[in-house]
Amino acid sequence: MGYSKPIDSSADVSQLWDKSVDVLKSRLDPQIFAAWIKPLALGRFQVTEAKQSARSSTAEAEVLAPNKFCLDHVERNYGKLITSAISDVTGRENLVLHFRVGDCVVQKKVRSTSEELKLKPRIDIAKKSQSPLNRTSTPRVATVGRVAHDQTNLNPKYNFSNFVIGACNQFAHAVSLRVDENLGSNYNPLFLYGGVGLGKTHLANAIGNAAYRRGKNIMLVSSELFVNELISALRSNRMDRFKSKFRSLDLLIVDDIQFIIGKERTQEEFFHTFNDLYQRHKQIVITSDKLPQELVGLEERLRTRFASGISADLQAPDFETRVAILIKKAEGAGITLPPAVAELLAERILTNVRELEGALNRLQAQSALHKIPISNDLAEDVLKACAPFRTVEITPELIQKLVAERFNVSINDLIGKRRTQNIAFARHVAMHICRRLTGCSYPEIGALFGGRDHSTVIHANRVIDERRKSDSNINSSVEELIRKLKQP
Ligand code: ADP
Ligand code: MG
Repeated sequence: MGYSKPIDSSADVSQLWDKSVDVLKSRLDPQIFAAWIKPLALGRFQVTEAKQSARSSTAEAEVLAPNKFCLDHVERNYGKLITSAISDVTGRENLVLHFRVGDCVVQKKVRSTSEELKLKPRIDIAKKSQSPLNRTSTPRVATVGRVAHDQTNLNPKYNFSNFVIGACNQFAHAVSLRVDENLGSNYNPLFLYGGVGLGKTHLANAIGNAAYRRGKNIMLVSSELFVNELISALRSNRMDRFKSKFRSLDLLIVDDIQFIIGKERTQEEFFHTFNDLYQRHKQIVITSDKLPQELVGLEERLRTRFASGISADLQAPDFETRVAILIKKAEGAGITLPPAVAELLAERILTNVRELEGALNRLQAQSALHKIPISNDLAEDVLKACAPFRTVEITPELIQKLVAERFNVSINDLIGKRRTQNIAFARHVAMHICRRLTGCSYPEIGALFGGRDHSTVIHANRVIDERRKSDSNINSSVEELIRKLKQP
């Protein structure tokens, strides 16, 4: 298989990369592929032809990674594989690969968001010299036996294999895999943070379950559980046991650390547990609803320690990721979920994966109860019952009104003939939302927008779909409009 044309246009480069990615997909474990290869892009491909023959010509390819962390890992572990995939696709044997941090889709999304600071994946790997702790001393601890699985508090349901990767969580997932492969090494502690129901507990458990399978000694505790254990140890005068239990671990996962705030004695004890594990290069994984810097009321010394490792955030999933999560959950639970219903649920429930799952479970329950298959109609009923929105009917007129206000154009502009960039864009958005949130067909929408042909609406819908995928600002403003429309 040869790639005979010279690669001189960006379309060719992206075609070449697509083919190489297909090859890589067939050669790699799906998890590895999704975590490390999917976020990459091909920046440049250049051939220097030698006079004598194509065989002695050299080719150079530049692979873009979304961040330094990803770059280092990919270059070290998959550099040869990528080279051989591109070689196979192009038929070029003398291929030199360069890696650079650059504009991949994931990075674009991160960069173009307005709250860059909040959303940017952070790589704050502790430098030994600046580390708040001296890692050289390795105190001895009394060891107790390995914690049995049912005592680890791990949820066996949450694994890497059933975690769906999207731009919203790609970095957190990649770092978690990496931590799991190298417990207690550079990325310690791992601090996973983000809003409710976005997969922090799932990822933390995935790390724990994978490490448990490799024979590691693990415990997952919520802040509350840590407090309770501490209180009961203090009461029964069994602090030694408390200490040795935690300190004999290879991996301690503390879920929802924010609840430790305001509990001084617990913070103090946790500080010592943390130090002890850290000094002996044992892994600590912490989840939180906020960054360490934002945890008001947390002791400063804990904050410093939490921020000294690596932090990764989880954001709300985009439409495609929501659909993929629903499909994965349905598969896992043996539910037959038609793709149209998955899309309907993903359109109505925007930010919280837990709610998405709740709607799926209710849908399944209703379907079993009434012995009817899962359909759009049934989904509408379930959504009406479980979501607080939709007390007003979302009409195309309402959509036009809101979109016009949002983009500073008039309704007449939306339905009229003018095609300035701003108006055309607002019109496309309004048509796209009509398609998503009303039951109108393409011709009906066309009619509502000044008698346009249905093919114009199909085109508008596709354009906005694409732009939502490639530009997170646009995606956020469309989602914001949808959210507003659904408010009671
Ligand atoms: P958090 O701890 O951030 O509040 P959870 O980890 O408890 O959220 O996630 C809530 C639910 O959503 C869980 O059932 C989890 O399996 C699911 N979930 C969240 N993100 C994903 C994902 N990317 N892929 C699959 N399931 C997910
Ligand atoms: Mg949680």
